[in-house]
Amino acid sequence: MGKALITGCGGVASVAIHKCCQNSDVFSEILIASRTVAKCDTLKAKLSGGETVIHTAQVDADDTAQMIALIESFKPDVVLNLALPYQDLTIMEACLATRTPYVDTANYEPRDTAKFEYSCQWAYHDRFKAAGITALLGSGFDPGVTGVFSAYALKHHFDEIHEIDILDANGGDHGYPFATNFNPEINIREVTAKGSYWENGQWIETEPMEIKRTYDFKGIGPKDMYLLHHEELESLAKNIPGIRRIRFFMTFGQSYLTHLKCLENVGMTSIEPVMYEGRPIIPLQFLKAVLPDPASLGPRTVGKTNIGCIFMGVKDGKPKTYYLYNICDHQASYREVGSQAISYTTGVPAMIGAMLVMTGAWSRPGVCNVEQFDPDPFMEALNRWGLPWQEDFNPVLVD
Ligand code: NDP
Repeated sequence: MGKALITGCGGVASVAIHKCCQNSDVFSEILIASRTVAKCDTLKAKLSGGETVIHTAQVDADDTAQMIALIESFKPDVVLNLALPYQDLTIMEACLATRTPYVDTANYEPRDTAKFEYSCQWAYHDRFKAAGITALLGSGFDPGVTGVFSAYALKHHFDEIHEIDILDANGGDHGYPFATNFNPEINIREVTAKGSYWENGQWIETEPMEIKRTYDFKGIGPKDMYLLHHEELESLAKNIPGIRRIRFFMTFGQSYLTHLKCLENVGMTSIEPVMYEGRPIIPLQFLKAVLPDPASLGPRTVGKTNIGCIFMGVKDGKPKTYYLYNICDHQASYREVGSQAISYTTGVPAMIGAMLVMTGAWSRPGVCNVEQFDPDPFMEALNRWGLPWQEDFNPVLVD
């Protein structure tokens, strides 16, 4: 039985909060704290009546002092950060000041540079270690479950993993010509950046969407997918011994890509301020304001996601391949928690990460990524809490 402070109340947080309430044996009390307190209150009204006691608060998580005051008044056993990547460092500072464990799903990114890397958060390792508290980074699906899958494959199926291909397919259709499935600003920053992959000890950079493959996904069918840079490439390159290559592919439909190219060409995806009617605005933030709110896509999205990892390596001196993946249905997610599968596949592992840290099942003072822990309790929890995994010992490989 413990207390969790959850920052943010958007698409991902909403799922994680539903799941905490389903898991009231562990989460006896939660405080939902976000910029717009009305969203927290609406969710509280929907979920109250169960065993988990829910509180709400307004907070600007960019302000460390406000976060410290909130943590000191509520005294949580864990802070689950489901606001935006911009807030990671201020919230980590507040956790350090109050000696509270920290969990997030997305790696820190400064507002003015569309580039994410773990260095800023890993730099906190010694301070968290000295304080005796765990910071668990990237406990969503990708990053998150993909790292747990990697640790599980290494523990149970390989002596050494040489290559990992992470495949993220969304076969969902929301009926809009263009919308993003999670925060549009963060999503568009990610997909318009250069791609990269890790090979033989170095990063190989590609132009955005330069490398395209087609893969036949179980539960979805054939889809075009594109190589992207993604944050778990960085931590897996460091934490999986003997790894030679790691790539990340995500599927995109033609309508999404055509609209994105057009928006890019006219400057709407830029994060450089422009003057509009006498005041500076950031085109990408304006675009976010006119796009559908990802949280509103739930009722209209049909189809499935399939996200997983193909591993290639050796076991007992012989080459081996192994594919671990989860298939999640958008409408089933909506029926259960009122959200589409992208929020669902992120919110469930966020709850699981917070649970394992809060209960002490995962405890390792310092700043750690998911693959540094024993994967077994996380894998069991995925099956229990709505993201059952499947395995294939003879997968089709990506060329
Ligand atoms: P949303 O935009 O739906 O929600 C973000 C929430 O954070 C909103 O409630 C917002 O408040 C709140 N917020 C923003 N700034 C502040 C602030 N300064 N202080 C307090 N609260 C703030 O995003 P998502 O739910 O789609 O995504 C949440 C996180 O999950 C992101 O970091 C995203 O990158 C990550 N993610 C990770 C994935 C993974 O697999 N690892 C996959 C998908 C997402 P307001 O309501 O006022 O806007």
